[in-house]
Amino acid sequence: MTSALFPTYARADLAFERGEGAWLFAANGDRYLDFGGGVAVNSLGHAHPRLVATLRAAIEKPWHVSNLFQIPQAERLARRLVDATFADRVFFSNSGAEAVECAIKTARKFHAANDAPERFRLITFEGAFHGRTLATLAAGGNQKYIDGFGLKVDGFDQAPFGDLDAVEALIGPNTAGVLLEPIQGEGGVRAFPHGFLRAVRELCDRHGLLLVLDEVQTGVGRTGSFLAIEQSGVSPDIAALAKGLGGGFPIGACLATEEAAKGMTLGAHGSTFGGNPLATSVGAAVLDVVLAPGFLERVARLGSVLRQSLAQIEDQHPSIIESIRGEGLMFGIKTRVANTEFAAAALKEKLLTIPAGDNVVRLLPPLIIDEQEIAEAARRLGDACARLRANGAAQ
Ligand SMILES: *Cc1c(COP(=O)(O)O)cnc(C)c1O
Repeated sequence: MTSALFPTYARADLAFERGEGAWLFAANGDRYLDFGGGVAVNSLGHAHPRLVATLRAAIEKPWHVSNLFQIPQAERLARRLVDATFADRVFFSNSGAEAVECAIKTARKFHAANDAPERFRLITFEGAFHGRTLATLAAGGNQKYIDGFGLKVDGFDQAPFGDLDAVEALIGPNTAGVLLEPIQGEGGVRAFPHGFLRAVRELCDRHGLLLVLDEVQTGVGRTGSFLAIEQSGVSPDIAALAKGLGGGFPIGACLATEEAAKGMTLGAHGSTFGGNPLATSVGAAVLDVVLAPGFLERVARLGSVLRQSLAQIEDQHPSIIESIRGEGLMFGIKTRVANTEFAAAALKEKLLTIPAGDNVVRLLPPLIIDEQEIAEAARRLGDACARLRANGAAQ
């Protein structure tokens, strides 16, 4: 039977019935090792006992009360985010695109509040992905996604990846700030060098611009620090979070310093569902785990273990793998075969991975994996490479 859903996704013919930690189980009992993590969403794996207990308890209480009333759960989560980061203020949304949209609006409103409403343009980078709303599409600048949707939202000027001179040349009287992902996710796990991030911060300071981060994919411990930007020593003005924050429950957050948030006054923004008690309860439980002493250090350590395993596979299969990149538990394998072909071969080994731009296959395992699971994933990746080589030889 044909599907009643919009055919906007290329779905594998596979559904899962049950999940446990880093594992997903199909209806026929087949067991898959989940190194896709629902695209960096299942930060604590599947059916994490703490998240299950939190959601069960929250479900017995009011699911939704609207933002016309106090929401203590949202207050608590906002306080924890503020305590853990550069930020002083938080706005909750339901998705990554909405969190980035709020970040863009916050940056524009900051300059408007400073009597410079003409400063509304953000400098963005080639290869960026910021979401699928009309404004975040324009920010991402991927023509393939923009075409056919009418006039492109104005206010974004794109620089080549990592090109500081180009950034400087784009700064003009209408520039509000710079928007970037510290490590581009959909773009193929491409990290901006730390020196580049520091130089962008200096440029922003020199020109009165805001540094706006999209940490929707890199945030909440994915790279071994709570925010990826921390590793460069740079402090942003605004940052968007989402994917890993709810561990599978939809939630996004826009974080800002008191100063950067100065334009977001009464009535400046809103969201019916944003910050609802279910989402913010689960978000706080995720932070309980991720911010517990030693957790992020463990992510970084497991990341080095995974990196070493991947380097070995790269050595063994140079005709399949071109290079390995990434940080913490966010890796990209740049393949010499089509990345979709590589992901399909991994799927045959019952290992879930996620294709990205630049012919890269992403590994985004739950942050709670252990060394045995990393060894198992490496074995399956090696088998997938061997399978691809055998296929190549047969042709
Ligand atoms: C996934 C993603 C988004 C969009 O998030 P949605 O929840 O799909 O709206 C935005 N920015 C980055 C960096 C992402 O990885």
